Amino acid sequence: MTIPDTADIIIIGGGVMGASSAYHLASKGCHNVLLLEKEDFFGLGATGRCAGGVRYQFGTEVNVRLSLLSLPMLERFKDEIEQEIDYRKMGYLFLLTNPVDVNTFRKNVNMQNRLGVNTQWLNGDDIRKWLPMMRLEDVLAGSFNPRDGLVDPNSVVMGYIGAAQRLGVKALTSVPVTGIQVHSGKIIGVETREKVISSPVVVDATGPWSGQTSQMAGINVPVTPIRRQWVTTSAIPQLPPDFPFVIDFAQSLYFHPEGPGLLTGMSNPHEIPGFDQNIDQEWELFHLEAAIKRLPLLERVGLASHLAGLYEVTPDAHPIFGKTPVAGYYLVTGFSGHGFMHGPIAGKLMAEIVLEGSATTMDISMLDLARFNEGRLIQEYNVV
Ligand SMILES: Cc1cc2nc3c(=O)[nH]c(=O)nc-3n(C[C@H](O)[C@H](O)[C@H](O)COP(=O)(O)OP(=O)(O)OC[C@H]3O[C@@H](n4cnc5c(N)ncnc54)[C@H](O)[C@@H]3O)c2cc1C
Repeated sequence: MTIPDTADIIIIGGGVMGASSAYHLASKGCHNVLLLEKEDFFGLGATGRCAGGVRYQFGTEVNVRLSLLSLPMLERFKDEIEQEIDYRKMGYLFLLTNPVDVNTFRKNVNMQNRLGVNTQWLNGDDIRKWLPMMRLEDVLAGSFNPRDGLVDPNSVVMGYIGAAQRLGVKALTSVPVTGIQVHSGKIIGVETREKVISSPVVVDATGPWSGQTSQMAGINVPVTPIRRQWVTTSAIPQLPPDFPFVIDFAQSLYFHPEGPGLLTGMSNPHEIPGFDQNIDQEWELFHLEAAIKRLPLLERVGLASHLAGLYEVTPDAHPIFGKTPVAGYYLVTGFSGHGFMHGPIAGKLMAEIVLEGSATTMDISMLDLARFNEGRLIQEYNVV
């Protein structure tokens, strides 16, 4: 497909945020939308490397509310977008091993229940009885929501891209944006290797790269790329069919069923920010030792694959939505490692902001870029 000379709206980035924004803009009647992705395929950034987890269990109301809108959109995905996305509800089980986490999660579960999310509180013995194959002597309590689960990230991206294209969106791969043109404080277009494309509106959906991208427009966006990685195992026939998505919260160590085996990951709290997406072998060894301690049967299974990707981390672990000091330049970024699940609603809210001036489906005004300069940070506790 040839690169057009102009577009009403240019979206930079073909991960879940760009794909969902493109679809929602087009479904609101804005068809002259151009999506540009630097890689040769869509969804090769954070989205294609993510663990696919979707959950209601968060520590702030705004994140729970985003889940309350976004997860039902994933449930309706096949009917609306005509794409199967393999939504598996096995529930997330947070394991809590220290009194501070127990107190905080207790409050968070009350808040979730108040908002209509049916998260359950379990004591240590309930959990030990449920998962006798795990070593859980130190577990004090846990929280479980049976509606949390897993969804296939690539299907969601390709579903949105296909649906957007059917509505007239031009979505191009192998077109890195190399510059952003601003005149008198307003967006006038973007530069690519081949040509300049004029447009009054740019949506920056470049996730871990959005700090770099927005610099091209002269805007400081506090998104830090931080590597995270996981491994998958060969088949584990001993796993019970009701094995949930287990998160050992204090260690940031998680396990979830993946095919006939498990996927397990662990966040390195000392990871140095950067764009390296190679596996850190030393950390992988440390992670596997911790995983075997929790689930000893892992000692006897093989590794099937491993992958590293980048979290897009903001100072308060909440996303950044909306307008910037440059007129026509919008952000949908900074989901801090849990953005895949919020991709559906994020694209819808972005379409409202761009076309109607503000988000109408829910109030996300507190998630603006200006909060970092104005000291309005909102901390999320449930970061994995
Ligand atoms: C290991 C790992 C596990 C995760 N697990 C989960 C999970 O279980 N659940 C969950 O909800 N989230 C999870 N996440 C987080 C989730 O993946 C991200 O929050 C989400 O995918 C961000 O989507 P995005 O569209 O903003 O970014 P991306 O998917 O990275 O998309 C940005 C795109 O922009 C493109 N781009 C960048 N610069 C340019 C340019 N100059 N020109 C053109 N294109 C450009 C990139 O190539 C990329 O495709 C995980 C992330 C990682 C790394």
